[in-house]
Amino acid sequence: MPDSADRSVDPSADRAIQSDAAPHVAGGATEEWNAVAVKLITDAALTQEFGFAPTPDAQALYDGALTKLKASKTASQIIDKLSKNPQFVINVIPTRGFPSQFMDEELNVSKKLPGSVIAWYPDSNKTPNGEQGSEIGLIHEMGHAVQYLDNRAWYKTYTRIYYDRLRQDPEVPNSDQRKKNAQLTIENDNVTKHETPVAKELAQGWREKYD
Ligand SMILES: [Zn+2]
Repeated sequence: MPDSADRSVDPSADRAIQSDAAPHVAGGATEEWNAVAVKLITDAALTQEFGFAPTPDAQALYDGALTKLKASKTASQIIDKLSKNPQFVINVIPTRGFPSQFMDEELNVSKKLPGSVIAWYPDSNKTPNGEQGSEIGLIHEMGHAVQYLDNRAWYKTYTRIYYDRLRQDPEVPNSDQRKKNAQLTIENDNVTKHETPVAKELAQGWREKYD
């Protein structure tokens, strides 16, 4: 689901189709973490279907964020988990053309980028407890990927309520509240388990709950 005010695009696909985006290999943290399952996408031709392009400096921004995240034990655990699961491909697209968002593989209909998608808006964010670097926005979206990977039935129950609302009659009583509650269930679990522990470990701005 899209992350209001801060960050979070939800793509299923034929994994037999090979994307021409080879996993990028760079030094340090990126080299270790850019395994089969987490792919940085820097080619605008591959993201055209979504209607937005990667930032020109996508590679540098991503490398910088991963290097910072490596200093957090919680972030390292999240990225290790996602990187070591070849059956679960995540395409990471640093972009200023779309709000940050995690799109699980069941929602992704892209032909060019099969798997799940993380759109990452690579700017810092304000929180009630200070400014937080853009790397926290990236780990937030990766946190959603962990929710989907580890607790899929639960995650899909709430994201379906969220997306179904978009097709519901706005006159249905309580439907707005039901949608909001579903979003907050997913988001607050993510903030509590992933975002805020990482933010605190990295001495970044943090929030107690999603707003
Ligand atoms: Zn989120």
